[in-house]
Amino acid sequence: MASKAIDIRQATTGDRLFAQIGAFLSAHRLSPDPAHYAFAHDVLKNAGGLTARRVAEITDGGVRLTAQDIERLGGQAVAGAPVADAEAEPMVADAATHEAMIERVLMQIDGFGDTMRNARAEANDFGRDLERSAAQMREAGPSASAEEIGRLTDEMIERVHRAEEKLDVARRETEELRTALDEARGSARTDPLTDLPNRRAFDETFAALPRTVPIVVSICDIDHFKRVNDSFGHAVGDRVIRAVAKTLADQCDCMVARYGGEEFALLFKDVGLDEAARRLEKARRDMTSRRLRVRETGEAIGTISFSAGVAEGQPGEGRAALMGRADAALYRAKDQGRARTIMAP
Ligand code: GH3
Ligand code: MG
Ligand code: MG
Repeated sequence: MASKAIDIRQATTGDRLFAQIGAFLSAHRLSPDPAHYAFAHDVLKNAGGLTARRVAEITDGGVRLTAQDIERLGGQAVAGAPVADAEAEPMVADAATHEAMIERVLMQIDGFGDTMRNARAEANDFGRDLERSAAQMREAGPSASAEEIGRLTDEMIERVHRAEEKLDVARRETEELRTALDEARGSARTDPLTDLPNRRAFDETFAALPRTVPIVVSICDIDHFKRVNDSFGHAVGDRVIRAVAKTLADQCDCMVARYGGEEFALLFKDVGLDEAARRLEKARRDMTSRRLRVRETGEAIGTISFSAGVAEGQPGEGRAALMGRADAALYRAKDQGRARTIMAP
């Protein structure tokens, strides 16, 4: 009995370490891969050790560990794991990233299913074991030795601990799953190049608006954008798209979405046609006044302008018809020499 009591105390210490490792991984947004687990174990088990002290130095003031930190400290960071890195380049528009994220969610769903099945099997077994133990105790009756009762009790406590650990794993997996789904849902509506809402987000927001809200929509398209790509390469083209996106978002005070390659759609609520056109012109002048250069070489990119068509919703007019009128106005702006805003009649 006495030796069993020591076992239980050890299990409690183990539980604490287990919980601390879980908290450490979660605080640093590290996936529960064996390599991260081993790193966290090293840090927490040897609290006064060199790694732990270095981690404390790096993370002083609430900073998160980066993959590079872990590798510098002799640990092994796991590629593709959700390691937060404030220095990291923003994600590039890349269907593969989205695919990978969905793949990760699906894998987590599979893993979660397994964990839940195990937990349920464990709970069933546990229920049966409890019944059996209770029956054994009843059978033994008053003659049961203290040793026998102690053994059965220890067994039950052991099972309770195991069940708790399994439930803890399931709880953590649920949290991870929720985070991963939130990320995937966010990225399904966010354009990764510009961080603007994408076309789907725009269409959904537009469709959800009550018909009574006065609406003005605009479609903007960067002028002669092919030249930028041809002269300076696609990566510089991407930066130009980001610069135009930021200018529109900063100046127009409305929903700005990336609608296509170098096209943006804007949704103004409770703003008149003239005011919407005024904001677009302000954004366009701001853009054309800038002297963009290629960061690495200093080479001048030249003036970047865009053309815009803007249209005000009419009573009873459908969304497609309104967007069609904005698009027709954009084409007139292109026809009339670009770098201008045209209001649909
Ligand atoms: P216009 O003034 O008539 O609009 O001329 P344009 O050169 O902008 O014409 P067009 O709309 O035909 O060309 C758009 C180009 O934008 C074609 C395509 O290669 C490029 N593009 C589309 N998406 C991206 C992107 O994400 N990044 C980069 N760098 N280029 C893109
Ligand atoms: Mg275009
Ligand atoms: Mg264009």
